[in-house]
Formats: sequence, structure tokens, C-alpha cells
Amino acid sequence: MEAFLLRIIGRSDNNDIATVYIGEFDRGKYVEFVESIQPPISRKEKWVFLVSVLYGCPVRCSMCDAGGDYSGPLSKEDIFAQIDYLARSRYPDGQVPAKKFKIQFARMGEPALNPAVIEVLRELPALYPNPGLLPALSTVAPRQGKSFMEELLQVKQRLYQDGRFQLQFSIHSTDNTVRDRIIPVEKWSFEEIAAFGERFWQEGDRKITLNFAIAKGFPFKTDILKKHFDPDHFLIKITPVNPTYQARKNSLESYIDPYEPDAEYSIVSSLKKAGFDVIVSIGEVEENHIGSNCGQYVQRHINSKIHLKNAYSYHKNLY
Ligand code: SF4
Repeated sequence: MEAFLLRIIGRSDNNDIATVYIGEFDRGKYVEFVESIQPPISRKEKWVFLVSVLYGCPVRCSMCDAGGDYSGPLSKEDIFAQIDYLARSRYPDGQVPAKKFKIQFARMGEPALNPAVIEVLRELPALYPNPGLLPALSTVAPRQGKSFMEELLQVKQRLYQDGRFQLQFSIHSTDNTVRDRIIPVEKWSFEEIAAFGERFWQEGDRKITLNFAIAKGFPFKTDILKKHFDPDHFLIKITPVNPTYQARKNSLESYIDPYEPDAEYSIVSSLKKAGFDVIVSIGEVEENHIGSNCGQYVQRHINSKIHLKNAYSYHKNLY
């Protein structure tokens, strides 16, 4: 691999839950990447990385602080630099012992816009031959990413069969006009996502996740999902809209209350009634303070003149 220099210039952490690293490459480009665990599950049981794949993101979803300021894709080496830093900071020989070792291509940047992610996926099992290795890719399904998705399907079939890959489509609303407003890029329709998913899913695979970070007022109709998606091959994940500057700017208030983990939601019951597996993924509220949750981006906080309530409280050693 090409030589690179990744310098850590800051971090935001609670060592018992998650650490966000801010790194600067020698070319003067900045990234953020995250390692996390899910208490009470130990790091040896499950260890999760989130790495950046683009410098900024051209999509600019309405609840995501990582969107905007797009200045190009990360190279394969830049992506591996983040993975290697995280793995080797705890295990210098690179032998990660975690029973489940999940690497999410999900911190900054839409992965389907960067072919280097496919190169990383091709080389990952040889470089990290952990039987629990589980790459996870979340996409908003941009039309521009069609050839990426076809290559992804081939890589999954060759290297990640039998449940060793997790694919997620982030959708957020069943109403196309609202979906276009939240994710302002040309995207696959529900028909196209469903058709691709049916080709992607094979016996033994994990169900494909349809993710909805629902804000109050986002239209959501279970029968639209039922019409397009087979509950035997797709599951639904409902997540809070996390406290981000973009969510505040766009007046998005979360439908899911992260401080009420046992609350019941009519959307969840109706999905279950329709036969879908449903995950209400709240995670640790503490991660909002660390800035490690989905859609958060610590550098947005550093550059902001206002401060958000209940978010981005722990950054250190910056600049
Ligand atoms: S959610 Fe993903 S695709 Fe949307 S702006 Fe953020 S990084 Fe880009």
C-alpha cells in the first residue's frame, strides 16, 4: 500500500462506550472515525468501527452534520488507515479477537459514491481474517451508485456469504416527496430497492435493513412498505433523529424519544402486525454527548457558533 500519514488531532470519548477520532492526513484533509462498544456487551464480544469514505458528502441529508463541504473520495489507503489505526491502537499485531467485529462504512460520506469502498471490501478478509468480521454498508441508494451496487453484490457473493455482510438502505419516509426533501439526491425508487434487494439476499444472509430515522411529521405508511418489500428478506430499523445542527436547522424533532427506551410506538406495532421484524435502535444516549451517533460530526460542532442541548459535550485536544 501507498505510504500515508494519519495524525490524530483530537478526540471525543467515553472509553466505556465510544471514541470519535479526528484525523488529519498529510495532504491536509480531515476525517472522523469511531470505535464503539454496546454495554453491557464487552469489547471482546462485539467491537464496532465506523469509518469515513468521502471528504464531506455531496448528498446533504437534512438531519446529517457530515453532509456538505464535499472535496472528493477517500482512497482505499485512506479508508484502511482509519481501520488500521483503530485496530492496532488496542491490538498492535492487528489480530482483533472480538467475536463480532463490525466495520460500518458510515461516518462521513455516501459509500456508493466511492469505488474504493469495494476495493477495501475485497481486501478486508485477508487483512483482518477474524471469523467474526462483519462489514456493514448503509446507503441512501443514489442513482449514481448503480454500478457500485452491482459490484457490491458480486463481492458479497464471493467473500461475505452466510450472514457475514449487512446491507442497509436509509429511507426515512414512505412518501417520495418527503424522501426527496430529506435526501436531496436522485435515488432508486422503492421498486428498484426491492428488486435489487431480492437479487442481493440469499439463503443464510442477514435480512436487508430498511432504516427510518423518523422525525415528527414525516409520512410513514406500513402498507407502502408491505406492498414493495418481503418481510422474509427485509427488516425495518427505526432510529431517533439524533441531536445534530442540521436537524435543528431543519426543525426536525425525533419521533422516537431516546430517553424513553420502553415507550410504545404505533408505527412499530403496525409494522410488526404486517409481519416485519422491527428493531428500534436507540443505543446509548451518552453517544449524543460523545458525538458518535449517526448523523453527528464533531467538526461541525467545533465550527459552530451555537451549542446544541444534550449533544457534543466531550471533545478534547482539538487544534
Ligand atoms: S447521511 Fe450519509 S448520505 Fe446523507 S449527508 Fe450524511 S453522510 Fe451523506
